[in-house]
Amino acid sequence: MYFDPDLVNPPTHLIIGGERCAGVTLNDVHSPSRHALVRPVGWASDAQVDQAVQSARLAAPGWAALAPRERAGLLARFADLVDAHAEELARLESLVSARIYSEVIARDVKVVSGVLRYFGEFADKIDGAVTPTPRNSLSFTVHEPHGVVAAISPWNFPMILSSWKFAPALAAGNAVVLKPSELTPFSATRLAELALEAGLPAGVFNVIHGDGAVGDALVRHRGVDYVTFTGSSATGARIMAAAAETGLKQVSLELGGKGPQLVFDDAGDLDRLAAMIARGITYNSGQVCFAGSRLVVQRGIADRLTAKIAETMHGLQFGETWNTAANMPPIINERQIARIDSIVQASVAEGAKVVCGGERIAHDGASFFAPTMLSGMAPDSIAIREEIFGPVLAVQEFDSFDEGVALANHAEYGLTASVHTRDISQAFKAAQAIESGTVWINDWGRRTDFTAPFGGYKRSGLGKDMGRPGFEKYLKSKAIWLEIE
Ligand code: NAP
Repeated sequence: MYFDPDLVNPPTHLIIGGERCAGVTLNDVHSPSRHALVRPVGWASDAQVDQAVQSARLAAPGWAALAPRERAGLLARFADLVDAHAEELARLESLVSARIYSEVIARDVKVVSGVLRYFGEFADKIDGAVTPTPRNSLSFTVHEPHGVVAAISPWNFPMILSSWKFAPALAAGNAVVLKPSELTPFSATRLAELALEAGLPAGVFNVIHGDGAVGDALVRHRGVDYVTFTGSSATGARIMAAAAETGLKQVSLELGGKGPQLVFDDAGDLDRLAAMIARGITYNSGQVCFAGSRLVVQRGIADRLTAKIAETMHGLQFGETWNTAANMPPIINERQIARIDSIVQASVAEGAKVVCGGERIAHDGASFFAPTMLSGMAPDSIAIREEIFGPVLAVQEFDSFDEGVALANHAEYGLTASVHTRDISQAFKAAQAIESGTVWINDWGRRTDFTAPFGGYKRSGLGKDMGRPGFEKYLKSKAIWLEIE
């Protein structure tokens, strides 16, 4: 066991204007690893949502006026504190999410501190331009923060996905109100405490807890200038409508996916490929927006490849997030596991064949879903259409290049895609033809670097997180004119 879950003492409060305050309505937070209550958390009342936004409004001008290098320095100190508290943060994360402790230590915490350093360094590197005008005038652009940014994040990678928002927003000089998922609230509270300890002024980074209704109240608040969201496409659409109805606020949306793994006959080493494709759908038990959830494979190697993927899937080990042997964590809650099960069953009823898995597994008091492969579905099958957000791989076979690309292109989603072939021209042609915000060639999965923008086409999103665009969206630009007499 990496840690004893009974010895973790999670912080349950909100952070508003630099103060710890108790939320109002108590709601239970559970551990998916053993279906047990961890602690009730108080959700923010409407008055507390208002207080958080007002605190951010009050703090924003001072934060924006700080010398950019000072902001960068404070964010670097914040990053150092995140690293220094890696084990504590990882315990808070693993206790209530599906993130395996060792992975949180090796990856998630380092991403959070790295993102703070990366975006902190942008603070003094964005300059404006002098634009060409007649000699009797001078015109130049300056970039300014929006003011108050509302950030709303999901439960699957709570710390990482929150940091993709608060780090660049803060670096650009905005004040932030973060609402994490009600299922995984603890790490966000601790991060806001560390920000205060690092010296960020009170009110610059606020955290409120609650469900979708609290998120909705935050989005609709007239004191919010910009909304940044990661979550499902359905919620993203609601947020866009709410932001439009309450002041035409700008929004950026990181939404769902249904990523294809497009595999051509000449893809090479099938053992390596099988391991990568299995990982692409079983990592975090498939609770990943960029999961490679559709295998679109050329007929010549389909049987051999799927047999090898099934073999890899059989070797995976279920376990609690704090279990040292586990590489398949639990599904986040009963509602989600019931949804996965119902889609698999509906797909079987439509004629899909279960190549492996296909059922839920009860193991040491938690709920897991067996790594599953389905084949023989029609292109409009539910298992192809819907984001399942579990370890379920839907297999489709093709003969020609055009047929493969047509299957890879999803009617609604376009977050990520992989192309596997040793023919560089074929790889490039496929990458051009696939409608997706990211295309990996002979690879799957986000690396821990921060430079590549990430965000979807179609119903998978609007705007980018990470990289330069992930910083610049937190600024607006102003043209200033001076008449020369
Ligand atoms: P979700 O149900 O859409 O919730 C996301 C966040 O929005 C949560 O904090 C949620 O609060 C809040 N929320 C719900 N309704 C709201 C409303 N009307 N107004 C404002 N906030 C509201 O998504 P999820 O189930 O947590 O996360 C899984 C989804 O996120 C998947 O579709 C996945 O693909 C997507 N995702 C996308 C990316 C990406 O980068 N593209 C990354 C990760 C996940 P509660 O949780 O408290 O209800």
